[in-house]
Amino acid sequence: MKPSRIEHIGIAVKSIEESRKYYEEVLGLECYKIEEVADQKVKTAFFRIGDTKIELLESTDAEGTIAKFIEKKGPGIHHIAYAVDHVDEALAETEAKGIQLIDKKGRKGADNLTIGFLHPKSTEGVLTELCSQ
Ligand code: ZN
Repeated sequence: MKPSRIEHIGIAVKSIEESRKYYEEVLGLECYKIEEVADQKVKTAFFRIGDTKIELLESTDAEGTIAKFIEKKGPGIHHIAYAVDHVDEALAETEAKGIQLIDKKGRKGADNLTIGFLHPKSTEGVLTELCSQ
């Protein structure tokens, strides 16, 4: 597995409505999609920047992982997502190298991606997402 690029950077925010102002008014980026992912208890907002994207994540549930992340660490960078050809193959290959997986198989993520997460305990402290179209 060799990722081709950083697909997006996921950023935990308390409120997309509030936080998007910085990305739009200060950085001048355009939000091209807002999407709720019910099973992950998040609302997402996407901004394209060159070959990559910023994904803002707002919890839709006080018990959701983003709500808990913000409670513990405050708003900020939540994960880095790498583009790979095949998520399932990349997950299997990564696991074979001793990395602890959060997802054994790819699942449907926001913005039409198939995604799988690696555990930050075995990725040098960075929650890592692998994704493909
Ligand atoms: Zn993501």
